[in-house]
Amino acid sequence: MIPFSDLRRQHADLLPELLARVESVLRNASFVGGEEVEGFEREFASFCSAGYCAGVGSGTDALRFAFLALGVSQGDEVITVPHTFIATTEAITQAGGRVRFVDIDPTTHTMDPERLEAAITPRTVGVVPVHIYGRPADMDSILSVARKHRLWVVEDAAQAHGARYRGRLVGTLADAACFSFYPGKNLGACGEAGAVVSSDPRLIERIMMLRDHGQERKYVHRIEGYNGRLDALQAALLRVKLRYLPAWNFARRNVASWYDDLLEGIATIGRPVEPDYAWSVFHLYPVQAKDRDGLGEGLRRAGIAVGMHYPTPLHLQEAYARQGFGAGMFPVTERVATHTLSLPMFPELDRSQVELVAAAVRQYCDGAVPSQSESATLCLPR
Ligand SMILES: *Cc1c(COP(=O)(O)O)cnc(C)c1O
Repeated sequence: MIPFSDLRRQHADLLPELLARVESVLRNASFVGGEEVEGFEREFASFCSAGYCAGVGSGTDALRFAFLALGVSQGDEVITVPHTFIATTEAITQAGGRVRFVDIDPTTHTMDPERLEAAITPRTVGVVPVHIYGRPADMDSILSVARKHRLWVVEDAAQAHGARYRGRLVGTLADAACFSFYPGKNLGACGEAGAVVSSDPRLIERIMMLRDHGQERKYVHRIEGYNGRLDALQAALLRVKLRYLPAWNFARRNVASWYDDLLEGIATIGRPVEPDYAWSVFHLYPVQAKDRDGLGEGLRRAGIAVGMHYPTPLHLQEAYARQGFGAGMFPVTERVATHTLSLPMFPELDRSQVELVAAAVRQYCDGAVPSQSESATLCLPR
């Protein structure tokens, strides 16, 4: 059996260190705020080369608080992609905004900068590119459109801790960036956690108020806020794991390069394309296949766990049914959603496991009959 992801391996290696941190937090009984939270904020800001960091309760909180702190209000439109996890758009709506979508680029699967300008209206206030799969969006092109229209830009970096765009770390590329430390992310807590980083100290200050009931000081509430703080126990565990993140990202890139080599030449499989501006951290390794469900079934039968990211685009979800979206509106996203399958990806995967997965993919594809028009109908990157 090859799992899709395996945190037990990671935690087994780190157990003595993690347990020591848990013991220390328990002995100090400092569970809310305090040195572990501040220490993690300092260390994560430094990891991102960002000026400031606010730890919050989840990646969703990070996005929601960032939008609120940027002043999103009733009826403001915020542009993002339909090819993302629903947290991106939930946060826009919950901050009082209206979601507008632009389709993704067929090669990179991130926001298509060419389509951005057409989605801007007089009510648009901001843009949220998503660094999906750990692959940075084309930030320079997105920023130049956004700046021209005086829009803020927030990176959804929930899958991309440590990824680089033209050599610069995600988290430093726009007005703010939001990270998730959901357990399965490249840097995962042992529960829920998230963070916002920015070079703007006032924005981070506002987020720190929002996460803590709008408190400036104890029982001084300048605004109403939320209960959305970063848990001190999670902060302590994240401080241990953060030190391993660079090595884990390198290991993920290594796994990706093995997959790249071993899947080379299978005509019916689309492999991830690394844009020339990107240094991706491979939160996922997605491939495209005409019969994605058949391939998934074949791999499962071979004892290989697979994932789908994401099977139904957001504009076709019931949650957004009353907003006037329909099938065919974002055709690239729809094609990617239908044909994409994520192969096992985690830092501890070894070469022999990757060989087994690749052999199973090859076996399935050799058995399937490729059609002439395949690369036209598929979202085949290569
Ligand atoms: C995981 C994720 C989120 C939300 O993070 P949580 O910590 O689960 O709230 C937001 N956006 C993207 C792209 C994600 O993958």
